[in-house]
Amino acid sequence: AGCRLSSKRNVCSSPSRLQSSMQAWVIDQYGTNGVLRYTEEISIPTINFASEVMIKVNAASLNPLDVSMRGGYGATLLNIRRDPSSLMGNYNEFPLILGRDLSGVVVDCGSGVTHFSPGDEVWAAIPPWKQGSLAEFVTLTEYEVSHKPKSLSHIEAASIPYVASTALSALVNAGGLCRENSSNKRVLITGASGGVGTFSIQLLKAWGAHVTVTCSQNAEGLVRGLGADEVVDYTAGDAVEKLEMMGKFDVILDNVGGDSEQWAVGLLKPWSGAKYVTLVSPLLLNTDSMGLLDGAFHAGFTLHNKAIQNILSSGIFYRWAFYAPDGFVLDEVSKLVDAGKILPVVEAQFPFTQVPQAFQKFEHGHARGKTVVRVA
Ligand code: NDP
Repeated sequence: AGCRLSSKRNVCSSPSRLQSSMQAWVIDQYGTNGVLRYTEEISIPTINFASEVMIKVNAASLNPLDVSMRGGYGATLLNIRRDPSSLMGNYNEFPLILGRDLSGVVVDCGSGVTHFSPGDEVWAAIPPWKQGSLAEFVTLTEYEVSHKPKSLSHIEAASIPYVASTALSALVNAGGLCRENSSNKRVLITGASGGVGTFSIQLLKAWGAHVTVTCSQNAEGLVRGLGADEVVDYTAGDAVEKLEMMGKFDVILDNVGGDSEQWAVGLLKPWSGAKYVTLVSPLLLNTDSMGLLDGAFHAGFTLHNKAIQNILSSGIFYRWAFYAPDGFVLDEVSKLVDAGKILPVVEAQFPFTQVPQAFQKFEHGHARGKTVVRVA
């Protein structure tokens, strides 16, 4: 049955019929932290399609993508996804709302919505081409939304969706891992102390994998507490030698990129279907600097060359992975969270009035889990 639009409206703080604008943090141009602007005059994102749900946001969290997008990263490709006519050069994406994670409450549903009703507590990872969660309200299709784990507060829940969607896309679609086949697998996670890493450790341990990680020495307690079996301090100078002395890996999830690609591939089991999966690819940087066609072609050429080189020399599958929006994936994560197998890792919380301070903290780097913003 579709949602009933009227009965619970007041119960779950939907916008009153007179309210047409909302509070949000927006940017009107790309740049550093100074471009973030608080406003109460952004139009409320009303429901335009039968499959859409409107959500009142309780909490949001920050990802590296927010800092990058604030500076214009990915604008070429994302604008085409927002409006294909942007190819003609007359599209204006501003004011743009950042923030990819949300935890909140459904306040309104399109006539075709079947899984949600007003008043439902939900969480979601918002695709980067849509308006983000640093705002009072967000509208998404019901396929992008999932019921929030009952055991978590909104603050805790907001720390998970984007990193979970990314980690699952990387580990399952690119890495070929799943609950059924992971128990005899050795997996290495680089950059394990951040958002994607802290989630991935827990997911892989829930699936029974053996997990080795790299992180700074002062993050060892955190990653071991989340289940990491072996921990290598990448700042110590002999990290690669230490990793080489361990058994070879079936899958590497690389959250760091750059130099790590040079040595990581050699740590995989040759000729066994092992996979190197990196979340750090040049695709969007290429399309930003070279334009859509040249940039996509250049990135495709790079990927193709590396994939061929690795498969021919050692039988290793070389892959780039990307966040993929999927409410059904979050339904599965929700079960693991409510079963106590995955814990939220909230490092810092900021009130909605301090979004620039939250960005400042996040931009400083050295994340230990997630930075969350209390929106309501
Ligand atoms: P975070 O900022 O939350 O975490 C990064 C972590 O890496 C920090 O804990 C940092 O701590 C650690 N780190 C930095 N340098 C190294 C190193 N050389 N070796 C080991 N650890 C290191 O980022 P996320 O976890 O959210 O994302 C990870 C990466 O994945 C980012 O580059 C992000 O842009 C990318 N990403 C890509 C997506 C895609 O669709 N392709 C989607 C989501 C993320 P410290 O510096 O103290 O060691």
